[in-house]
Amino acid sequence: MLFRDYGKTGKKVSILGFGGMRFKSVNDTGECVAMMLDAAEAGVNYFDTAPGYMGTKSEHVFGEAFREFKKREIPFYSATKTFKTDESSIRQELDAQLRRLHVDCIDFYHVWCLTTLEDWEARKQSGVIDAFIKLKEEGLIRHICVSSHLIGDQIKGLLLEGVFEGVLFGYSAYNFNIREAAFDAIRKHRLGCVVMNPLGGGIIPQNTKVFDFIRTRDKETVVEGALRFIFSHDEINTALVGFGTREEVAQAVKAVQGYRRISPEEMTRMRDHIKESFRGLCTGCRYCDECPEGIPIPKFMDAYNHRLLYGKEQELLDRLRWHWDIPASIADSCVECELCEKLCTQHLPIQRRLKEIASAEKRKK
Ligand code: SF4
Ligand code: SF4
Repeated sequence: MLFRDYGKTGKKVSILGFGGMRFKSVNDTGECVAMMLDAAEAGVNYFDTAPGYMGTKSEHVFGEAFREFKKREIPFYSATKTFKTDESSIRQELDAQLRRLHVDCIDFYHVWCLTTLEDWEARKQSGVIDAFIKLKEEGLIRHICVSSHLIGDQIKGLLLEGVFEGVLFGYSAYNFNIREAAFDAIRKHRLGCVVMNPLGGGIIPQNTKVFDFIRTRDKETVVEGALRFIFSHDEINTALVGFGTREEVAQAVKAVQGYRRISPEEMTRMRDHIKESFRGLCTGCRYCDECPEGIPIPKFMDAYNHRLLYGKEQELLDRLRWHWDIPASIADSCVECELCEKLCTQHLPIQRRLKEIASAEKRKK
């Protein structure tokens, strides 16, 4: 395993991190703990969860795994998050998290999921910064961090405020250009940087032909290539993979073992190709899934991905019909309330895409 500094904290963290949001069988605690042990024994020491991952089941599983790590004297760092904004609610949540995770202190505690700057201003008004500082002084958390779905320039502004020691955001080989401006602030303040969704929420491994260009060696898989693309950014200390199975852990560990830095020429070739070929793919995160008209937006945006990936309208309509089994005509019921676009973590033009889908369906008829 390779390790990098988490900003100025003095902690060396593994470049591969364990994300606890995609366990395939979260009710099988033994299997989940076995996955985490596989990762830890391979050197992974950064374990990230949240109170809303599968309810609180992910944190429960992590707690069982942490107990096992301690018994076996395996070193690890815990990372989790809170949406709460005032001191009393944060304390209450943190107390429950410490009990679930079987630890006395959270190593990396995140202000969770900032989606707009207005949201950040509102949380500051509620006292989130003072509350985090007090918890750190009391030794209940070690480092104050933030997880964000803002775009790069906004993250940069947020980090330059000087509150946070590290940041977590989505970054992958196909959407890097939306957030790379954040690296300016990360370099300037020597902050920790963890990225999530390095495989694009499954889009990259599910479309190996489309992403074949990302491989830079003959025997390399597309997943290995995508992870190496991330690891070749010096600002990133850890890429979190949301593991579902033990096989996925083994595959990602192999990618790290075979790591060699991508040359600047290869990086330029990839980045140019990506910029020309993929703009605005949906990651399937489902944050937008609150349409008052009942439109299943993530399914429509997944279908739109197929148009972007394969360049054909028919692929989009086939995906809706044969994979999701939903009529494309539902797209026409959008009343343009803008809610989904405000919630979208990738800042996608959802309303325009729905209109395109509705028109494509009408043309076909
Ligand atoms: S803009 Fe349209 S699709 Fe988005 S939430 Fe509003 S009605 Fe639904
Ligand atoms: S449209 Fe945006 S918020 Fe919705 S699933 Fe896709 S990336 Fe996530």
